[in-house]
Amino acid sequence: MYPASFDYSAPSTIDEALQLLAQHGENAKLLAGGHSLLPLMKLRFAQPTHVVDLRRIPSLRGIRRESSALIIGAMTTYNELAASRDVHDAAPVIADAAAHIGDPQVRNRGTIGGSLAHADPAADLPAVILALGATIVAVGPNGRRAIRADEFFREIFTTALSNDELLAEIRIPVSAARSGSAYAKHIHPASRFAVVGVAAMVDLERMSERIQRVRIAVTGFGNTPLRAIGVEEALSGRTADPDTIAVAAMELDAGADASDDSANAHKVQLARVCADRAIRHAVERAR
Ligand SMILES: Cc1cc2nc3c(=O)[nH]c(=O)nc-3n(C[C@H](O)[C@H](O)[C@H](O)COP(=O)(O)OP(=O)(O)OC[C@H]3O[C@@H](n4cnc5c(N)ncnc54)[C@H](O)[C@@H]3O)c2cc1C
Repeated sequence: MYPASFDYSAPSTIDEALQLLAQHGENAKLLAGGHSLLPLMKLRFAQPTHVVDLRRIPSLRGIRRESSALIIGAMTTYNELAASRDVHDAAPVIADAAAHIGDPQVRNRGTIGGSLAHADPAADLPAVILALGATIVAVGPNGRRAIRADEFFREIFTTALSNDELLAEIRIPVSAARSGSAYAKHIHPASRFAVVGVAAMVDLERMSERIQRVRIAVTGFGNTPLRAIGVEEALSGRTADPDTIAVAAMELDAGADASDDSANAHKVQLARVCADRAIRHAVERAR
């Protein structure tokens, strides 16, 4: 299968990329790792007349630590995330997820920015970014704007980005001392995508085992990643022991896919097991 013909540019600055987006409007598409865009173009579900390759823009790459945030460039690949010491230290849930995305080829080229902008409802990193309460920084003709992860994923394959913007970086808040995060995924054996995946972020009180703050997000249900509010409420302010976590994980289904067939019931059960594992692991890391 061949894509429809298109022109190609590989700018070296964000400004040049934005100019190309402004010039070609809806007919332009940004190219990151290509692992979602190129299959869509080959199937002719996407037929851009101009492809703007972001891989030669150095300022979109890399991971850096500031005092209260971890900043990840949009073009950072899954392998780079999985190998980063800063990611392991500040937000290990990202490394957990990135290390199990697809296969080695996908992890070598696929990018965090491409994954978030594509907003596949079964993708791993959107749920991770939602659980971390991250901020997505978009750049467009009017400059930079920050979008909270809770407001970024709008619908299936649809985000808050507009056609003339690109996703530049992701800012992860790094909380004080006793914080932990983890991801647990039930992998589809053929595609390696998540049947379900659960990302957990937990802050423990300084001098006790009480859960001070918790965010849980789920992929694989519905059209966007979802917060598991029922689980969060069952954990908040409680002692982080295995029984409390197991009971709280059973609350996972409120917000999840409303359909009530047996396949969905099976998925809910898998998600509860993943939630239990992810929360326990996050708590271990927070201690
Ligand atoms: C065999 C296979 C297995 C996979 N398994 C998994 C899996 O287990 N888990 C998972 O989460 N994903 C999986 N994927 C999807 C993979 O993670 C893709 O890499 C990801 O969805 C898109 O990232 P990309 O960098 O390849 O983006 P691209 O395919 O280049 O772009 C995707 C979309 O995002 C837009 N875009 C890209 N970068 C930006 C930007 N900076 N700003 C604005 N828009 C942008 C593009 O225009 C395009 O519309 C798999 C893919 C394959 C082929």
